[in-house]
Amino acid sequence: MVTAESLSGTPVVPGLAFGPALRVSGEVSAEAIARYGDGGFSDPDAALAAFDDAAGTVAEGFARKADKVSGASAEVLTASAGLARDKGLRGAVAKNLTAGTGLIESVQLAANQFVDVFTAMGGLMAERATDLRDIERRVIAHLVGEPEPGVPTPENASVLVAEDLAPSDTAGLDPTLIVALVTERGGPTSHTAIIARQLGIPCVVGVAGATGLSGGTALLVDGTLGSIEIDPDRAESIARVDRDRAARAELESWSGPAKTLDGTHVKLLANVADGESARQASGSPVEGVGLFRTELCFLNRQDEPDREEQADIYAEVLEAFSRPGQYVVIRTLDAGSDKPIAFATHEGEENPALGVRGLRLSFDNPALLDHQLDGVAGAAQRTGTETWVMAPMVATVEEAKEFAEKVRARGLKPGIMIEVPSAALLAHRMLEVVDFVSIGTNDLTQYTMAADRMATDLAHLTDPWQPAVLQLIAITASAGRANGKPVGVCGEAAADPALACVLVGLGVTSLSMAPAAVRAVGAQLDKVSMTTCVEVAEAALAADDPLSARAAVRACLDR
Ligand code: PEP
Ligand code: MG
Repeated sequence: MVTAESLSGTPVVPGLAFGPALRVSGEVSAEAIARYGDGGFSDPDAALAAFDDAAGTVAEGFARKADKVSGASAEVLTASAGLARDKGLRGAVAKNLTAGTGLIESVQLAANQFVDVFTAMGGLMAERATDLRDIERRVIAHLVGEPEPGVPTPENASVLVAEDLAPSDTAGLDPTLIVALVTERGGPTSHTAIIARQLGIPCVVGVAGATGLSGGTALLVDGTLGSIEIDPDRAESIARVDRDRAARAELESWSGPAKTLDGTHVKLLANVADGESARQASGSPVEGVGLFRTELCFLNRQDEPDREEQADIYAEVLEAFSRPGQYVVIRTLDAGSDKPIAFATHEGEENPALGVRGLRLSFDNPALLDHQLDGVAGAAQRTGTETWVMAPMVATVEEAKEFAEKVRARGLKPGIMIEVPSAALLAHRMLEVVDFVSIGTNDLTQYTMAADRMATDLAHLTDPWQPAVLQLIAITASAGRANGKPVGVCGEAAADPALACVLVGLGVTSLSMAPAAVRAVGAQLDKVSMTTCVEVAEAALAADDPLSARAAVRACLDR
């Protein structure tokens, strides 16, 4: 039970929402499990039949939800239905039953066994562990006769409050009934955050104490500041939400190009993953692509595509931005760590985030980079699009120099990402050997704060508003100014309208983000002068922590 007047966490999707807390029923009650005991089955076959019944009902529930949604949400739910019916899982339960174990324990042991396997595989497979735990809870709930855990359907628009959300919970959410998400765990790159961004509903993660909120408590969620007001004045809250909605609706008419109130041009660009997302992005008010994450084209590839096939893939993205004045920044393979690619990644590294990832993969396999650069050059020639190429995970000037030589030899414009603190500290020397840099704030934050960007418990550290991260951005931006070369930001930080003002004030010249975020950032920049941007940058740098940095900047922008 929470007695405070407000809670706070990491804001991930901006906006205001007001509604009663809707609690996700997490676990099946221990009493129900104790009452169920060994289930009283005559033999293992009878127990297995009860498992089949329960797992079948769970799978049908997922399939029904999948029918009501589309796209990524439907895929997630269909995959969960398949996992509930998985033969391997059933086989493991049967084996435990035959060994004399009770049904519930057999299900738990089988789930543990597969969770261990998924976790050891890492990357995307590790995320399936959450799905499996969700299935385990639902099957056990059916066995003991309790309602399935998960998101209940509310009668009125509500704020969903949970410890964390399983992908199958978030995939079927109806944004007219669930108006905001608040979770105790989870970081800015967590599944909850990604789904909230897709649904366009305010979201705050990493909220200590959230699970102490009782169902029905009125909450005002501020997804911009990361605050949750408990039992606020109802009329005033509704008025604030209405004003926020009206301001958001106004954004839809923003058409770019972006400039500050006093006319300083700031390039807004899109982050894309393939031809399809590039075509979609070309309909938004951007001047090009600031980050094409090429590795995302190859997540399911076992073998390296040859130069021609790569050229075809890259040309699809370049074609979408071939108008005069537009350009595309292609990032070479950032395989490894959280993005394993079968034909590139080194297996069995103790610490993959600090291992052979990004540009480092070319150290003992230069052909990997050469083939990719040939593919990019082929695509650039074919489409005529202005093409810039940058390398991820550059740590030394020597690496930047060698990369730049290879890129220039193919008639392309070379740059590097600033994601490693060493690269930020030496930005002035990096910029002597490349034509531009782009700051990857996701990894720069991870490496500056020594906090795994996927670790849900470290969300307060993996926050680009950390003054130490802003300091490294300031160093990089001033190196850009001194060299007269562009300094972009292409991490999630660029999509935060308030932080965008800070970045511009620090001297960043372009911001690349998910296309859905572009209008909000552009409209915010329209309203501020360069003097204000510099002022908020100074305020953010001077703050002790992200919370006070956000508050100081917001106060300044609202003046
Ligand atoms: C970053 O690290 O900020 C970045 C843009 O790269 P990615 O998120 O793909 O690692
Ligand atoms: Mg990165």
